[in-house]
Amino acid sequence: RFIAFEGGEGTGKSTQAKMLAEALAARGIDAELTREPGGTPGAEAIRALLLAPPGEGWGTPAEALLFAAARADHVARRIRPAIEGGRWIVCDRFVDSSRAYQGRAGGLGDAAVRALHEIGSGGLRPDLTVLIDVTPELAAKRLAARDGGLSDAIGGRDAEYHGQVADAFRSFAAADPAAFVVVDGAGTPEEVHKRVVTAIEPLLRD
Ligand code: C5P
Repeated sequence: RFIAFEGGEGTGKSTQAKMLAEALAARGIDAELTREPGGTPGAEAIRALLLAPPGEGWGTPAEALLFAAARADHVARRIRPAIEGGRWIVCDRFVDSSRAYQGRAGGLGDAAVRALHEIGSGGLRPDLTVLIDVTPELAAKRLAARDGGLSDAIGGRDAEYHGQVADAFRSFAAADPAAFVVVDGAGTPEEVHKRVVTAIEPLLRD
């Protein structure tokens, strides 16, 4: 089984991915927590390049190619072997982040991002994607508490860009309701976690 968490900065998705992986393990399920960009040595090396770009930054096309390259390594060396071995993968971000950030907000377009994903990772999709949705006000408040308002690890992207990211995620979920659950990210981590567990319950049954 393959579950991805998606959402913008400050939604709490990384906390929720971790809590779900722990809850699955507590039920005796062999579950691995991983993240994007990253999850393998090669992909973590690409992550470092993405988050601290040498020189003047990458620009959207180079960024999209680096994310796709990191994902290709992560899928080939970690995600596919785990799924084929009967284990569960809980992944903090997957291809829908590329569709939202580089495809929509960065303007590269959905077809290009999907084509890169097809080449890099055979078009692999999660069994279920949990979209953690919060208002822009709540995300801003959490980020201010976390790191003094530094809302963007990549940098140089404004509130309009991040608003487009959030809208993109909502539109992906609306377009494919069987593949997504949208979970309200407001409240304590425990409150949100309960909603997540309820949302993934069908996967535990079959
Ligand atoms: O999820 P996390 O905060 O670790 O993501 C690291 C950074 O990578 C964030 O600043 C996020 O905006 C960025 N990112 C991106 N495009 C993606 C995935 C993540 O710009 N496809």
